[in-house]
Amino acid sequence: MKFTNLTRAEEIGANCYLLETGNTRVLLDSGMHPRAAGPLATPDFSLLGGRGFDAMVLTHAHQDHVGCLPLAMRQAPDAPVFMTEATAAISDVMLHNSVNVMMRQREELGLPDYPLFSHREVERLADQWRLVDLGRPFDLSDESGAVTCELFDAGHILGSTGALVRAEGRCIFYTGDVNFEDQTLMRAAKFPEENIDVLIMETTRGDSPVPEGFTRKSEEERFIGALQAALDEGAPVLVPVFALGKTQELLALLHGARKSGALRGGFGLYVGGLGAKITATTDNLRGRAPRRHGDLKLATCMPMEVVGGRDMAQLPVLPRTVYAVSSGMMTENTLSNMLAPRILEDPKAHCMFVGYSDPESPAGHVRASADGGEVVIDRRRHPVKRRCRVDQFTLSAHATRDGLLDYARKVQPAKIVLVHGDPPAVGWFARELPKVCPRSEVIVPPPGQTIEV
Ligand SMILES: [Zn+2]
Ligand SMILES: [Zn+2]
Repeated sequence: MKFTNLTRAEEIGANCYLLETGNTRVLLDSGMHPRAAGPLATPDFSLLGGRGFDAMVLTHAHQDHVGCLPLAMRQAPDAPVFMTEATAAISDVMLHNSVNVMMRQREELGLPDYPLFSHREVERLADQWRLVDLGRPFDLSDESGAVTCELFDAGHILGSTGALVRAEGRCIFYTGDVNFEDQTLMRAAKFPEENIDVLIMETTRGDSPVPEGFTRKSEEERFIGALQAALDEGAPVLVPVFALGKTQELLALLHGARKSGALRGGFGLYVGGLGAKITATTDNLRGRAPRRHGDLKLATCMPMEVVGGRDMAQLPVLPRTVYAVSSGMMTENTLSNMLAPRILEDPKAHCMFVGYSDPESPAGHVRASADGGEVVIDRRRHPVKRRCRVDQFTLSAHATRDGLLDYARKVQPAKIVLVHGDPPAVGWFARELPKVCPRSEVIVPPPGQTIEV
């Protein structure tokens, strides 16, 4: 069996992997790099050698997994693409939004090839999408039972899965992005632990040790306590969030805290347009995808205003107001980036980070900045002086490195393939896994090379 890493570098970029077994070629995910632009933002499809693939499995609808799906499907227009119903519904929103973003980037970044695909193309894609339930095996080849796949709840975002491929009497399990603990909205992953020969594993948090005594619940309490204190001071609070996943988690968390009395008094709340759209999709999928608080309608659980890109420049920065806007990494041209200078330069304001940021992203720069220090938020503009308070919380949608290590320890696969991590994160797993899986071969798949697994 062969495995090819189509991602262009060892990083969390345009995640895309080819699995070849016998005559069957299966593509796993097809993401777009969250920071790169142009051809470097896409997987290297030239590695498919013009031979396409027979089937594709999409684990979830985050941009770094779904963003280049239309380009992948051009390589194999007749191949079925398997995913959960929730992933399909959210991918549709994400891909149409991506067309809009690329149309803006075409002018702003001078990229004549953008958008890389059109709204019409996205509309047509759904003909090849096959919606599958968790725990129900399906065929990936024409020959019944020869190559099958089964999806398992990954507990990461709504609809997220890990994919178990069975072929040649062996089992290959690709974790996708996973969380082994309950979040506010998502339930912990339910992953298989037996008879896995090859484990393809994400390594996002390999470089992030978990502090002694840390629990999700205590971190949620710390966040709500800090937010209450900021609101009591009358502060405007920027919480940069991913539109998909973190926005819904945050709404569920705020709702729960208001209900329990942990968060008191009224406050203004703004959410971004894409975040609101995905929140509405999440509400529509109630009862049809695993989650906690199954009856809760997130879009109407508390008063909130929706703000779009065009309104952002005029948006007032108000006291006692939470701005839960994307992107989580404050990427240029996003709502959180546009709002950032006014928040950062305001000594009364607070900026609260709740998830992962690439150290090279504007959010990464803010997090590393000193009080009064200069931060580059937008390369085309002057740096801003950071006078606001910056707080950091770990409400990650990804498994801790210890959680992933523990999972590998239970599985004891013959081979472990490390993906979806920056080099220090991958390096940590490459060092630690042999201690808990002494018989496993640990592989860091070089981008662009085909390896035997
Ligand atoms: Zn993800
Ligand atoms: Zn990812």
